[in-house]
Amino acid sequence: ANLSTIIPSQLQARTPPYAKLVSKLSQVKEILNNQPLTLAEKILYSHLLNPAESLKHGNLSQIRGLEYLKLSPDRVAMQDASAQMALLQFMTCGLPSTAVPASIHCDHLIVGKDGESKDLKSSIATNKEVFDFLQSCGEKYGIQFWGPGSGIIHQIVLENFSAPGLMMLGTDSHTPNAGGLGAIAIGVGGADAVDALTGTPWELKAPKIMGVHLKGQLNGWCTPKDIITYLAGELTVRGGTGYIVEYFGEGVKSLSCTGMATICNMGAEIGATTSTFPYQEAHKRYLISTHRGAIAEAADEVNSKFGFLQADANASYDKIVEIDLDKLEPHVNGPFTPDLSTPISQFGAATKENQWPEKLSAGLIGSCTNSSYQDMSRSISLIKQAEAAGLKPKIPFFVTPGSEQIRATIERDGLIDTFQDNGAIVLANACGPCIGQWDRVDISKSSQETNAIFTSFNRNFRARNDGNRNTMNFLTSPDIVTAMIYSGDMNFNPMKDSIKLPNGEDFKFQPPQGAELPGKGFIPGRAEFYPDLAPQPHPEVEINVSPESTRLQLLEPFKPWNGEELKTSVLLKVEGKCTTDHISAAGVWLKYKGHLENISYNTLIGAQNKETGEVNTAYDLDGSKHTIPELMIKWKNQNKPWNVVAEHNYGEGSAREHAALSPKFLGGEMILVKSFARIHETNLKKQGMLPLTFANEADYDRISSGDVLETVNLRDMIAKDGNNGGVVTLRVTKTNGETFEIQTKHTMSKDQIDFFKAGSAINHIGNLRRA
Ligand code: SF4
Repeated sequence: ANLSTIIPSQLQARTPPYAKLVSKLSQVKEILNNQPLTLAEKILYSHLLNPAESLKHGNLSQIRGLEYLKLSPDRVAMQDASAQMALLQFMTCGLPSTAVPASIHCDHLIVGKDGESKDLKSSIATNKEVFDFLQSCGEKYGIQFWGPGSGIIHQIVLENFSAPGLMMLGTDSHTPNAGGLGAIAIGVGGADAVDALTGTPWELKAPKIMGVHLKGQLNGWCTPKDIITYLAGELTVRGGTGYIVEYFGEGVKSLSCTGMATICNMGAEIGATTSTFPYQEAHKRYLISTHRGAIAEAADEVNSKFGFLQADANASYDKIVEIDLDKLEPHVNGPFTPDLSTPISQFGAATKENQWPEKLSAGLIGSCTNSSYQDMSRSISLIKQAEAAGLKPKIPFFVTPGSEQIRATIERDGLIDTFQDNGAIVLANACGPCIGQWDRVDISKSSQETNAIFTSFNRNFRARNDGNRNTMNFLTSPDIVTAMIYSGDMNFNPMKDSIKLPNGEDFKFQPPQGAELPGKGFIPGRAEFYPDLAPQPHPEVEINVSPESTRLQLLEPFKPWNGEELKTSVLLKVEGKCTTDHISAAGVWLKYKGHLENISYNTLIGAQNKETGEVNTAYDLDGSKHTIPELMIKWKNQNKPWNVVAEHNYGEGSAREHAALSPKFLGGEMILVKSFARIHETNLKKQGMLPLTFANEADYDRISSGDVLETVNLRDMIAKDGNNGGVVTLRVTKTNGETFEIQTKHTMSKDQIDFFKAGSAINHIGNLRRA
């Protein structure tokens, strides 16, 4: 009660329920016999619905990585592309309003080409039907609607909703960005978001905890981006799977809050469930600067009295990684995978060795990952050095502010003018080129020639930015991107190399300088970009989805399981990396996110056929050649259930639930892989698919397309409610009639077994509500 008295009414809905959380934490401590807890565990376990049930084993070693937690998140955020399906699913539940505060952010559907005014106008016109649908859902159910141009989901969340000790879900894989302000923020598919929106317990296997000990301090050219690009190189894209990453050590003090957000944002690139930081002075400064000083006061109080926002002394981590910031150097990651990490001092040599293009074709900064005031002001400090020396950028340069607040503040402080005076195109406050919405004019999508771009974004899968599979995206800090646009040469190391000036002199950049926060504070910018921060539901609002629409389609429930063993044919054996971009491509397909039938025509079109090396090609048993979705549709029409067999980290990348919805919609029943990315595996379970992993990876080599895979003990396993995982035996019948059995593993909890039986999680929620 004391805590709530210091929070003004307009901030109460945006403040974690600290009094309730610390009371829950004391129950947790009692159940766990006062075992020291990490920060991540304190936040997570204080959001348990029933600590006595979830923590019944009483010992962390029997909980981490083993027990399923039933959690009650504080809020939900949804971006426009994924919100459509989340809300279409929520609508089927028939509730008048959401159970927790929620927000919708129109950011993914905005094109990046000519700059804000033109791009925003054309994107609003193109996507009007979808934006109207999202807005009417917001009005009907009392969800904040952040319209097109207001900013990128994660930046808006950081500026407005994230807070130390908060637990939230977001229908986007980079939701962990909010961990930069000490929250536990987890990226999920729309069906998971519906759990929180309907007040259904949200389930998560208790993550293991990885500690990252930051020693020394950042300085010179090194930025928070380099911490995470370096870490991605060390851990690889699978290294964080099943972990929450928790940072600690004296090095944390040299980071800004927005820098911590950059690091947490890209925890998604190592597959971590989420990442977070203990409460810092930098958090307090950021909260005050973003007009939430009262939340900082409450956080101070809850931390000093109960130690809620930091790990206990002697907390144990399942794994610890040390990074010495004094020795760190800027890193450049790519191409095509975020874990191929090269220190800047070796990048020129790596370029030659790998025969990457010697010249850069564009530089892009901003996005949800790196568009803080600090990022922008450091970039400007380099631009001013170059300007003073008479240099002009050698390649196109794009800047994406993360929100209207950032854009307006850097405009007030003259940064936008400096960018534009030096040739930069300032794009709308939206995802734009980061999500395939870059309407690139200098190089066509179908160009066969390789080209290289430097970006401060977080992801670099093929065709991610401009739809061109031959564009190599190298991820690095905004500082390095900015310096590189003046050289245009992949061999240039701005820390030591010089650029020849027209007068023959050598110009060398000095390390960038920037302000952590704007000296004059943030200004909100244009009022039209702000929603009602305390929206009320209006049940009378009608949501119209035209049956003729190509953009939106009401959902038909999937059929429940028929109680029999599954008998499925291998439609495709996938080779190598298969991310959600391969399974459900973005770019031009983003426009169909609300129309399951239309978007399903993109299913697995980026996947490579193991047997032929071809992309988007599958063969029927009669040898006829098809695109992958074509064969799926053909088999669906023949009532022939199918499966896909693939390799490691299947479904890596985004939280895109279409990567699970579309295969299910087209008649898929089982996905069998060497390993899954966490969010995608959950999405498959939510849509009633059977996700299995090989018990013996070598069995991947024994299976071919056309083979029939039959479960042998599925009914038994289901009768035992899954036991939170177990073995499923598959009988394999080769096309020549040979048969053998292999062992596979599932990780389904009791609830997830119920989703499978019901045909999907949404069907299951409906069953519960009707019961
Ligand atoms: Fe948008 Fe890119 Fe951030 Fe995703 S990663 S939210 S597409 S800016």
